[in-house]
Amino acid sequence: MNPSGHYVAIFGGAVSGAEAAHQLSSRGIRTVVFEQNALPYGKIEDGLPKWHAKLRDKEIGRINEKLSHPLVDFVPNFRLGRDASFEEVVREWGFSAILLAIGAWRDRPLPVEGIDQYIGKGFYYQNPYIYWFNHYHEPDYQGPQYEVADNAIVVGGGLASIDVAKVLMIETVQRALRARGHEVDMFTLEKSIAKTLEKLGLSLEDLGLKGCTLYYRRRIMDMPLSPMPTDTPEKLKKAQLVREKVLGNAMRKFLFKVKPLHVPIGLIEKDGRLNGLVFQQTEIVDGRAKAIPGTEVAVESPLVISSIGSLPEQLEGIPMDGSVYKVREDLCCRVEGFENVFALGNAVTGRGNINESLQHGRQVTSAMIEHYLLDEEQQYEEAFRKVENATSQKLAQIYQQIKKIPPLTETEFNQLREKVERFQQQLGYDGDYMKWINAHTPPRLEQLLNS
Ligand SMILES: Cc1cc2nc3c(=O)[nH]c(=O)nc-3n(C[C@H](O)[C@H](O)[C@H](O)COP(=O)(O)OP(=O)(O)OC[C@H]3O[C@@H](n4cnc5c(N)ncnc54)[C@H](O)[C@@H]3O)c2cc1C
Repeated sequence: MNPSGHYVAIFGGAVSGAEAAHQLSSRGIRTVVFEQNALPYGKIEDGLPKWHAKLRDKEIGRINEKLSHPLVDFVPNFRLGRDASFEEVVREWGFSAILLAIGAWRDRPLPVEGIDQYIGKGFYYQNPYIYWFNHYHEPDYQGPQYEVADNAIVVGGGLASIDVAKVLMIETVQRALRARGHEVDMFTLEKSIAKTLEKLGLSLEDLGLKGCTLYYRRRIMDMPLSPMPTDTPEKLKKAQLVREKVLGNAMRKFLFKVKPLHVPIGLIEKDGRLNGLVFQQTEIVDGRAKAIPGTEVAVESPLVISSIGSLPEQLEGIPMDGSVYKVREDLCCRVEGFENVFALGNAVTGRGNINESLQHGRQVTSAMIEHYLLDEEQQYEEAFRKVENATSQKLAQIYQQIKKIPPLTETEFNQLREKVERFQQQLGYDGDYMKWINAHTPPRLEQLLNS
């Protein structure tokens, strides 16, 4: 079935890829979604920490509904750049248009010389660490195992770095409690470690723990932690107070520490492992963090996790503008040099962070602020909607461009369909989307705890 005569390839099936497929299928355009993983949920499955189980399931439901449409084909476990090159897809395959909705999964490199040689030896980046946290409870989990340690260093400042600090606190406290005969599940600890310990008449010290420390290069009031406008001095002041309150709440509940105005400049090595970082103090000059010479301090720690943002992956053939794709924003994020290739979602917005994106979204009224203060889940949900809405708007324009392209001939369309079906067969996908999803959704922690 192909009412429009067009066939559009979408790479990445999560919030933005599924929304693009939905927008095109509802206008009668057939699409095929190529997704590198078995499940097309992206950050929802592998980035949103697993304690947000309700939000995850809700978002997954939205994606499933969109990708179940009869005009949407699905090819799981197909990775652009591995199973086909960008050049091959663009120059040889012959789709009406190609949409890149592959998100931002490359951790921004920590600017400390030589640090990457310690990955797995006392040092990790955030994305694989949260992936492990989200999945290690699964009976079939075969991915790498990650270390957990007390007194760890987290380098970051945004919501995702607070998630990393929370993961470290939950894991270390849970293990220390278990060693003392108290079995407390992750969901209980995520409500409040402080309250959980209080009920047991214990403190971090009693457990022999120090807690992790989040190092941030600016002031706490600068942390991108509340989706409030900052376009007047009054609004900025209010936003700064809110940021301090958000962080204060998180520190009280989860017992981690924060060192603002510190930037990492060097590393400490011991027996072939990373054993901490050298920091320099900073001051804010004209809104920028400026390192103060002579303030270096060596901080020893068994584990360092860098959580300073995610960037789109560099794929051969896609032109880059620094660390992001080179796109013409005035032409619905058309990839520079290609008439019919467009980038969507975090693949283009990934350079900022959730709160930056939210500031450009709908206005948040004062009455809502208290709610935001307490509700990290609400912030994530808003971020998903923001990306979805931006994709939807962009697709309305991309659709106009596709309409101008001559439709595929029946032979061209049939050849493409055959190609897609061949991939599906090779990958063991029989075309029944929900059957595939049900067979590949792993057991969730809450199900395992209730069984
Ligand atoms: C921890 C965390 C951090 C966030 N950070 C931000 C942020 O910085 N900015 C922001 O606006 N929102 C952020 N969000 C909010 C939200 O995740 C995103 O806005 C939204 O989910 C992005 O959707 P997406 O579809 O663009 O990307 P993703 O959810 O990353 O989906 C991309 C999909 O493409 C697939 N894929 C990747 N590479 C390939 C390939 N080569 N071939 C085929 N498929 C591929 C992936 O497997 C994935 O399914 C964040 C959310 C979380 C939980």
